[in-house]
Amino acid sequence: MIPVDRPLPGDVVEDAIDQPFWDACRDHVLLIYRCRICAESFWPAGCCPQHGMQDMIWVTASGGGTLHTWTVVHQKYSKSFTEERTVVAVVKLDEGPLMHTNLIGSNGIDLQVGLPVGVVFQTIASESVIPVFQLRNQSETSAPR
Ligand SMILES: [Zn+2]
Repeated sequence: MIPVDRPLPGDVVEDAIDQPFWDACRDHVLLIYRCRICAESFWPAGCCPQHGMQDMIWVTASGGGTLHTWTVVHQKYSKSFTEERTVVAVVKLDEGPLMHTNLIGSNGIDLQVGLPVGVVFQTIASESVIPVFQLRNQSETSAPR
């Protein structure tokens, strides 16, 4: 767990349909929404374009993915940008869906599309826990032994 003294990003609001996702984040588990008819996964939670809301379930994601795209924010126009060089990213999860997130700890690293990333969880000021990502080889080397 990475405690961070920052407010929630403006668009992160827990609601009823997403509550299992946010509860799982508190346990450091990443959930995605999956259609049980076609097995496609989605995030944010919503409905399958082919099958609507019928038979959707939450499943545990691997927490792995690849860097799909990103932008580096140098201007700290929000208090939620706590890093010197905030990287707002889109990660393509191993299960398929794209997830908007932050890539943390990448200062000074040349980013490339397709770099492997892994989820980590930040506890933020309001007691919410949000999933963010870091480069996978970086998370392996920083893991406790
Ligand atoms: Zn479906």
